[in-house]
Amino acid sequence: MINRDRMRDHFLTLVQIDSPSRKEREIAMHLKEELTSLGAEVSFDQTDQMVGGTVGNLIARIPGTRSGGTPFLLCAHMDTVGPGEGIKPQVEENLIKSDGSTILGADDKSGIAIICEVLRALQKEKVPYAELEIVFTICEESGLLGARHLDVSRLHARTGLILDSSDPDRLITRAPAANRLQFTLQGFEAHAGVCPERGINAIRIASEAIAGMRLGRLDDETTANIGTIEGGIAINIIPSAVTVHGEARSHDEAKLKAQTEHMIRCFEEAAGQHQLTLDGTTHRGQVTYQVQRDYDRLFIPEEARIVQLVRHAAHTLGREITLWRTGGASDANFLCAKGLEVANVGTGQREVHTVREYLLLDDMVRSAELVLNTVKLHASMS
Ligand SMILES: [Zn+2]
Repeated sequence: MINRDRMRDHFLTLVQIDSPSRKEREIAMHLKEELTSLGAEVSFDQTDQMVGGTVGNLIARIPGTRSGGTPFLLCAHMDTVGPGEGIKPQVEENLIKSDGSTILGADDKSGIAIICEVLRALQKEKVPYAELEIVFTICEESGLLGARHLDVSRLHARTGLILDSSDPDRLITRAPAANRLQFTLQGFEAHAGVCPERGINAIRIASEAIAGMRLGRLDDETTANIGTIEGGIAINIIPSAVTVHGEARSHDEAKLKAQTEHMIRCFEEAAGQHQLTLDGTTHRGQVTYQVQRDYDRLFIPEEARIVQLVRHAAHTLGREITLWRTGGASDANFLCAKGLEVANVGTGQREVHTVREYLLLDDMVRSAELVLNTVKLHASMS
């Protein structure tokens, strides 16, 4: 049985341990102790060395209480976004929020608290279960770096759940792939008052390109954004350089490729409109760009075993889960790209990444019951 008060209290403890990305050491040590007391063998990988952090991903293994059976993975992330230091949680019956000056950190400490409670409940009930593996990642909020560098060959499990979304009656099985784009526009510098006709304005090129670009929600699978723009030196100088950063995301690789090419073309065409001949030399607007794959998509088919398992577990609780397609990425994207079959279940966290973030305890309990039943069912069927 899930113990609501115990889970809430653990959650309150967790959010009061600061853990911004790359500074997860203190919470990792707390969790190491907690998991060890629950019979787990805890180790850390070396991802901290690759990302400049204070601790690596936490990997814990709890031996099964029955022989055979396939291992099962439960995963959440330890880091939080800012402002996330000195969090003072306020409990109002079913709702927990911050004091308004910070985030709450339910993203993703609600996931961690649920996983720990599920382990306690399993031990109390003495239900036979197969080996369980717990991964608490670092730097999820910083480009999914923990999961990006996680060496999955250290894991025995090939299927499991990530607890890092909002609605406990939803199972996220699809998330987009993303490209990260950087464009540098080159113009030609000149004095803006004395001889503007001798300049090519890089900011103007960027503006023309962006004005003609398809951005925002492009269809139900694809989005694109221009997020930052930097350039220019002073108001009396025609700017010669501007750097623009953007992204494109899609659940469909062909659409992602088409949108990426469209964004490049907009910049190339805008740059091509600007040229200038000075003293026999022709200067042209130019663009250079970099396209980087940020992450691959999460795609778990409806007939996948994990989906069947969670659906079945929900049925045993008299509930239905909705399979959900999201526009955001999580650690599940990387685990899926590395060959694991993982879906992302909601924990009750709401309005995340804002100081209005809150957690509904009833939802947290719903999530814990679903995860507990899923683990039990997995054990009885594997
Ligand atoms: Zn999260």
